Amino acid sequence: MIQINTIYINGEFVSPHGGETFDLIDPVTNTKTGEVMLGDETDTQRAIDAAKKAFTTFSKTTKEQRIGFLWKLHRAVSQREDELISVMVSEYGGTLQFCRMSVQHALSAFTNTITTLESFDFEKTAGNSKVRLEPLGVAGIITPWNASNSFICNKLATAIAAGCTAVIKPSEMSARQTQLITECFHEAGLPQGVFNIVNGLGDRVGTAITHHPDIAKISFTGSTVTGKAIAKGAVDTMKRVTLELGGKSPNIILDDADLSQVIPMAVLGVCMNNGQACIAPTRLLVPFSRLDEVNELAKRAAAQIKVGNPGEEDTDLGPLVSVRQYERVQDYIRIGLEEGATLLTGGEGKPTGLESGNFVQPTIFTNVRNEMRIAQEEIFGPVLSIIPYTNEEEAVTIANHTMYGLAAYISSSDRNRAEKLAAQIDAGRVCINGFSHDPFAPFGGFKQSGIGREYGVYGLEAYLEPKAILG
Ligand code: NAD
Repeated sequence: MIQINTIYINGEFVSPHGGETFDLIDPVTNTKTGEVMLGDETDTQRAIDAAKKAFTTFSKTTKEQRIGFLWKLHRAVSQREDELISVMVSEYGGTLQFCRMSVQHALSAFTNTITTLESFDFEKTAGNSKVRLEPLGVAGIITPWNASNSFICNKLATAIAAGCTAVIKPSEMSARQTQLITECFHEAGLPQGVFNIVNGLGDRVGTAITHHPDIAKISFTGSTVTGKAIAKGAVDTMKRVTLELGGKSPNIILDDADLSQVIPMAVLGVCMNNGQACIAPTRLLVPFSRLDEVNELAKRAAAQIKVGNPGEEDTDLGPLVSVRQYERVQDYIRIGLEEGATLLTGGEGKPTGLESGNFVQPTIFTNVRNEMRIAQEEIFGPVLSIIPYTNEEEAVTIANHTMYGLAAYISSSDRNRAEKLAAQIDAGRVCINGFSHDPFAPFGGFKQSGIGREYGVYGLEAYLEPKAILG
């Protein structure tokens, strides 16, 4: 049995004051693998005190010193790369392929932030005045379980680059990953109190961070429901907030795209991280005239998806994180059937031979209407909705008709046509011909997919307060 009995405050592993525990469950077998001891409001207060004290000196460090700290963190994390991958796989069931990529993202968060920092100027001019960009203070960092370390590394790297200190509350469901990444950060030997990590529940540690007057900024990744609670809680002390929330991203296939290439990619894309990705292309918008061809290709692609043990090299789709998430996805499959969408493949229940874990069959609904709940609500499972459109104008209307606006995808053999379409889409990121990633391009949502941006200069500025010096 794994026992995680410490949190990290002021440069030390300490026992949490909070007495509650949380069970760690293997998503492949649904058996208990261990327990994590949770922190509470008292622990949060201690962590905030340590971060506040550290800020008085850390905020005065030079850019060069902070670059040095970021290199130390990078080195410490890279030494345990393989362990991080295997803990991710066994903790929440991410596939080997995905977990390798995610740990690479975690590592490159440090190197990319260093690149941004090297050319960043903390003093600018505006009009006839000088503008100093000063670190905001103590940042509260709250993260989800679906790519835990990657989010923690990116947010912490940016906070440090800005000269902020941090109190981090990872998801209680990623306690093993948290433990390992904390050990790495500890090895890096940063000044005491610069980062503090408290395992705990959202409505205790998360809420305490959100409401605390000594927290200047919240950087949150998670669901839109929680994001709204955080925004409301943060307003009393006028905290700056960066909220990276949910999505229901359209994947628009134009009539000149090579369907034999883009449809299999679309099906694989919705299985990304076992269907638990905020940027997953969950609504596939296709020309009505080519619907039959698309259905055929999509069905064939789904049959090629290997569902199974996430630790095996060729697995495409592992289990969902929890029984709760499994039940939620099953509910949505039933809702899709009740709403009258056509089930093309997959459906309710577990794949044969995988009954013990939270496995879901890759599921595709076609003839979906955009107003159906399966097209409007974030399912967070491998469920694709194929929605036909009759012309480009209608495709844009469908793409934008959602409360979300995180990502969008367009496939076309005509780049100019795709770019013209991209200009009409309400999303923080539009990828043309593929699921590309640019760590220097801003990332964040339109509408209810969030507030603010991460990555590159946009991400760094979100941890800084401009001060104009006039006269
Ligand atoms: P969640 O919102 O349930 O939890 C996220 C974090 O918030 C956890 O650490 C949780 O303990 C904490 N929390 C819960 N209630 C809180 C409260 N009242 N106050 C403060 N903190 C609280 O999300 P999840 O289930 O862990 O993750 C899945 C969600 O995250 C999906 O909706 C997904 O789209 C979203 N997500 C978004 C992005 C993005 O970059 N936009 C990336 C990954 C995941």
